[in-house]
Amino acid sequence: SPFVQIDGVAMRYGGVEGTLALRGASLDVGEGEFIAVVGPSGCGKSTLMRLVTGLWPPTEGTVIVAGKEVSGPLSIAGMAFQNPTLLPWRNILDNVMLPLEVVQPHRRQLRSQRGHYEHKARELLKLVGLAGFEAKFPWQLSGGMQQRASLCRALVHDPRLLMLDEPFGALDVFTREDLWDVLQDVWMARKPTVILVTHDLKEAVYLSDRVLIMSSRPGRIIAERTVPYPRRRS
Ligand code: ADP
Ligand code: ADP
Repeated sequence: SPFVQIDGVAMRYGGVEGTLALRGASLDVGEGEFIAVVGPSGCGKSTLMRLVTGLWPPTEGTVIVAGKEVSGPLSIAGMAFQNPTLLPWRNILDNVMLPLEVVQPHRRQLRSQRGHYEHKARELLKLVGLAGFEAKFPWQLSGGMQQRASLCRALVHDPRLLMLDEPFGALDVFTREDLWDVLQDVWMARKPTVILVTHDLKEAVYLSDRVLIMSSRPGRIIAERTVPYPRRRS
């Protein structure tokens, strides 16, 4: 069965009189599939991401991930957003290693796995061009650098599900295309299930197996296209 099953989902913010952000959304995503979601601002892309990651419960319908109905924040997901959400009191390395504490809350195991995570975190930081910045704090880095660190944090625990909401939005075009390759390499090595929200159709086609197009008023999925010739390097 599909890894992510979204069935008849609707989301209305702020009670019966509130904004209908999403309606009639149904979608199956296979394990290891890479899906891109595109659409104009306000069409409900972020809402869809919040429902799948369990940050909000849907007003209607169900979301099932890995065979279980989502009923609270999903710890198996790695997430990255357009606005980097690094913790200001931690340095970059400790920010990237944060998922370790979520996945492994027991002190003793945490200590024994720390070395493995630290190695992984340093490798990822190198991959995104942040070697040498491990001991800096978020405010000492540019917005784009913080965004790259956020992407490392989303990847550090090899999540089976990657939820990426405009993760490259604040980057210049060259850095962005380098990071496409980083993400593609991670995907090819580990085959996580990926749902990527983007404004950039080129990015969607370059990276994904399938592109969903959403429309606003109120938000719904209006079309779906399989990418016929992925641009992926082999
Ligand atoms: P997108 O990510 O495609 O820009 P969103 O999912 O953020 O779209 O928003 C969809 C609709 O829901 C918009 O009309 C937006 O104003 C509204 N909305 C989003 N988040 C909230 C919220 N927390 N409270 C109320 N309305 C919201
Ligand atoms: P972006 O936001 O796309 O990363 P910026 O124009 O803000 O780009 O920064 C450009 C470059 O400046 C960064 O890629 C980095 O090499 C350098 N830089 C930014 N902040 C620092 C810093 N605190 N220490 C050293 N170099 C930095």
